[in-house]
Order: sequence, then C-alpha cells, then structure tokens
Amino acid sequence: MAALTIRVEGDPVLRQVARPVRKVTRRLQRLIRDMRETMYAHDGVGLAAPQVGISERVIVVDAGSGFIALVNPKIVHQEGVSVDVEGCLSIPGVLGYVERAARVEVTGWDENGQDRRVEATGLLARALQHEIDHLDGVLFIDKATAVFKEEAVRTRQVAAPRGGDAAGEPEVFSSVAAARSDLHSTEGA
Ligand code: ZN
Repeated sequence: MAALTIRVEGDPVLRQVARPVRKVTRRLQRLIRDMRETMYAHDGVGLAAPQVGISERVIVVDAGSGFIALVNPKIVHQEGVSVDVEGCLSIPGVLGYVERAARVEVTGWDENGQDRRVEATGLLARALQHEIDHLDGVLFIDKATAVFKEEAVRTRQVAAPRGGDAAGEPEVFSSVAAARSDLHSTEGA
C-alpha cells in the first residue's frame, strides 16, 4: 500500500466528471487500498478518486463508524436539510458552511463488487454527499454559503460554527482541529 499525492484546487482532474467503473479489478482494489491509506494518513473523513488524480467513480469514507468504500456510488434517496462546516483535503486551509441533505441512502458496490446500500445521517451523510460531488467535478466551495480561511476562524474574525463538543471546548477550536480532515461537521467532532 502507498499513500497517494492529493491533488489540490486548480488541478483539472478535480473538475472532470469521473468515469463509471465497469468492473472491480485488482487494480481497482489496489486503488481503494491506497485511497484508504491516504485518507487515514491525512486524518480525513473521506476521499474521492479524483483527489488522487484518478477520474473514476470511487469514494472511501470513515466518519467514525468504520471504513466504507463505494464504487459507482449513487444517492437514491435523500431527505431533510443540514447546514454545517466543511473543509476539503484538496482545498487546504479553507472552510465553509454547506447545506446538505440530512439523511441519504446511497447505493454502489463495495471493494469486492458486491452491491452495497448505505443509510446515513450526520457526518457520514455529509461525507458521502461531499465525496460524490467530487465525482461530478463539484467542490464544496461551489455550494458553500460562506467561505473563510481556517486562520480567520482561529483568530475569531468570523463567526464560530454552530454547536460545539460535549467537552465544552470552544466550538470554534473544535471545528478548526477537525478541519484537517477532508471535511468536518460539528455533530461528528
Ligand atoms: Zn473534498
């Protein structure tokens, strides 16, 4: 396994519509293993193949409840609205408020080509929507209602995100700490 280089905003691969995967091969399984390693190496919550330069419809996520790989992921149901703070490994140092569906059901294949259906709320739902957007060349800054530098949050030049963690840590700092990951939601901090 090997951690891969993360492509950053400005790289054309991030703006391409990724190709569907026709079948699971050993090459694809190796890609998924490498994406998994890359995501964990960066304390990420999720990663999409275009972020490592591969324009194919593959995502990996781990929102704290276990690793999930999805090939050709598709949102088949969504409901509710949730607004929270996100960041992205491909846009370092930038955060923004993004409106997402509160609950989603996503279908796809797992790394062995088996059908998989994931029902998600909270951070996992947000992560899935964020990563699937990557497959369509969409970045969170395209949808964010407010975008700000991580540094501005740290120095309290902008409003702190809603919420805060149970330990009573100032919510602004809990968000910044988690913004090192590919995305962040205060509800999953
Ligand atoms: Zn991202």
